[in-house]
Amino acid sequence: MSNEIEKVVIIGSGCAGLTAALYTARAQLKPVVLTGAMPGGLLTTTSIVENFPGWPEGIDGTELMINLQQQAERFGAEVRFGSTVEKVDLNERPFKLTVDGEPMLAQTLIVASGAGHRHLGLESEKKLDKKGVTYCATCDGALPMFRDQPLVVVGGGDSACEEATYLTRFASKVYLIHRRDELRASKVMAERALANDKIEPVWDSEIAEILGEVEDKVTGVRLKNNKTGEENTLDCAGVFIAIGHVPNTQIFEGQLDQDDAGYILRQEGSRTNVKGVFVAGDCSDKVYRQAITAAGMGCAAAIDAERLLASEDQ
Ligand code: NAP
Repeated sequence: MSNEIEKVVIIGSGCAGLTAALYTARAQLKPVVLTGAMPGGLLTTTSIVENFPGWPEGIDGTELMINLQQQAERFGAEVRFGSTVEKVDLNERPFKLTVDGEPMLAQTLIVASGAGHRHLGLESEKKLDKKGVTYCATCDGALPMFRDQPLVVVGGGDSACEEATYLTRFASKVYLIHRRDELRASKVMAERALANDKIEPVWDSEIAEILGEVEDKVTGVRLKNNKTGEENTLDCAGVFIAIGHVPNTQIFEGQLDQDDAGYILRQEGSRTNVKGVFVAGDCSDKVYRQAITAAGMGCAAAIDAERLLASEDQ
């Protein structure tokens, strides 16, 4: 095992992780950022971000994250692309991590591992994954298989409205399937989606099955109205699932206190139940879940880590 002990290791490279990197880098702590499989985090799957302060015209999600990464690197942060933490041992400091099969030691840890897409949990969803079933309109919407075809978006939040609106650029029509008769999305996003001629909302409905297993690609959905129990089918070439997220916290189970849904519990500020481990962003926030709140939490975690290290240096 290498004897080198990193002062600060940051798990995750979304808004929370990269802001924590910027602050700890400016504090000359030479943070190491382990990006995981999705450098830049979930924001890179969004098109235009209209509510990040300081960008009056909005900014592309990926561009925002690249800017933030470069800003952190300018002050000495080391961003390790694709590096994934497989195991953590938080029993004593320095903490022991296994990263891509290699050991790593960290004096402090900032967990900013974000959240992943929630799945419907259908067998047909699994079978047709990447064969018309997708969780990211910005990533997949422009694929030839979806061009000028009817598409389905599932969900009633900001993500579903944003994805449905975005997909109207390519699709012949977009069905927005929601399990209730009222959208959860913010007023501006909901109004924009519902005002779009190409979007047809389908209320009180859930997908019972995604069709197309014989053809080995999505051909439609079987819907069930949860008020009347009635079933019907819709033809479509793609199903875009936008029903929220689950925190990426499985590797910390049994070591960091979590709530029933797996969100890491914060104690005071960004502290966790383990001294030296701090947390920021979507992996510990089921209330706000915004880019700017994640960035703020990353800043707080960096300051908390820096203060702990400074107090131990004296
Ligand atoms: P969300 O707000 O949690 O909405 C999830 C939606 O999926 C809800 O409408 C929910 O229905 C539905 N749903 C959940 N589980 C389901 C299931 N098993 N089957 C069918 N439907 C299900 O998630 P989100 O839209 O991803 O947004 C997450 C956060 O990111 C929010 O804070 C949002 O404001 C933010 N966001 C912001 C932007 C932006 O500003 N550009 C873009 C995207 C997201 P119910 O309504 O019945 O619970």
